[in-house]
Amino acid sequence: MRHPRPAPSPRRAARRVVGALLLVLACVPDLPAQVAAPERTPRSLVLFIADGCGPTSLTLARQASGPLALDALLVGSVATRSASSHITDSAASGTALATGVATDNKVIGLDPAGGRLVSLLEKAKAAGMRVGVVTTTSVTHATPASFTAHVPSRYDEPDIAVQQVVADVDVLLGGGARFFVPASEAEPHGRTDGRDLLAEARDAGRLVVTTAAELDALDGGDPETPVLGVFASEHLAYVLDARPAAQPSLLRLATFAVERLSAGGAPFVLVVEGGRIDHAAHDNDVAAHLAEILDFDATVSAFVDDNPDDRLVVSVSDHETGGLSLGRNRGLLGAQDWDPSVLTLQTASLEGMLERAKDGEDVAAVFLETCGLADLSDAELSAVGDAKAWVPGLRLESTEDVAKNGLSRALMAPLASRAGVAWSTWWHTAVDVPLFATGPGSARFAGHHTHPRLGRLLQEVLGLAGE
Ligand SMILES: [Zn+2]
Repeated sequence: MRHPRPAPSPRRAARRVVGALLLVLACVPDLPAQVAAPERTPRSLVLFIADGCGPTSLTLARQASGPLALDALLVGSVATRSASSHITDSAASGTALATGVATDNKVIGLDPAGGRLVSLLEKAKAAGMRVGVVTTTSVTHATPASFTAHVPSRYDEPDIAVQQVVADVDVLLGGGARFFVPASEAEPHGRTDGRDLLAEARDAGRLVVTTAAELDALDGGDPETPVLGVFASEHLAYVLDARPAAQPSLLRLATFAVERLSAGGAPFVLVVEGGRIDHAAHDNDVAAHLAEILDFDATVSAFVDDNPDDRLVVSVSDHETGGLSLGRNRGLLGAQDWDPSVLTLQTASLEGMLERAKDGEDVAAVFLETCGLADLSDAELSAVGDAKAWVPGLRLESTEDVAKNGLSRALMAPLASRAGVAWSTWWHTAVDVPLFATGPGSARFAGHHTHPRLGRLLQEVLGLAGE
């Protein structure tokens, strides 16, 4: 006769359960360290990209204006290096986000050997989702191009435009008209091959709009008809400058896109880029940088406040720009504070000032009218007076422009000095950037990532990794 085994003590029973669990865990490869309840798969994704917005930029915005909408969504950080450099550019990081593969600086949608990569939007489209990209830069700029084109050099924007008018993208909105129309008196920086890509897009069945009013007229239309909108010759105007009536805000672009992409309950992937955050940092223009960040955060806020429970929202930067520091040396002393209150004194961006200078106005006079500072020293006034020597060589369309950097050094230094902020470079840095997420699947974004890993994770969370 077999004796029944005595019941184990509660503590021994608990140890057995834990032991069995550990055995199971040991047999399952790659299980995350934290075992959380399984999350629902998101039906749709809105991926926000704050181009050139590093952690110090967010501290700047927070200390100047109060808590950010992004703050409640912080889940991790991202290392930004590319395959070719510790310091990435927007092409390599955009491609990593769009495809999950590391590539070299300046490369769009290709691997370092030149092989064509499949983008998140292409996979989403193949899976029956609607897809879109909206940006405050030219749509042909590196970040939006990484999701919609494949070229060896980001600077081949005319070819990027050719690819974009046939790309399977439902909504593409931003600036960059000059890359779509032939050069003319009205568009002197237009295409040199004579092609009118906007006409070609219309002939191919796309709706083409070039003003905010034309975009408004498309509200409620057939979501199956692709929309291409280019609302400026190059980039959209800075928030700090008077926005031309023809140019929609980032919030308007994003809202239009979401309403159209989600019409009828369709699943979708939308990329929303605040691209001019980066440009202001390249110019070391702290006032314009701040205004662009706050505009971006307000756009994120509008989505987060009313986020459907089947929609994942992720926000990340492609890299830091400018090496921004809050605090700097003053003579032989280090300043123990910085002063965000002076940042609202400047009423035009550096670019806005320089556009007027390019149109023939005296750059020193424009600066004195818009800088908001009445206490310039003799040395600062002398530097401002000397700045006009740079104007003839100025190329406003380029962020890599010696003349613009020379003007920035003269015109942006007085405000930075009074605010107690400093910049270390006209270009990007290798600093890690914060990562934000909310909605179904967002728990998987916790921790430290690389851009390629983040790109793969976006595909995995949407169930597109094997597509
Ligand atoms: Zn940049």
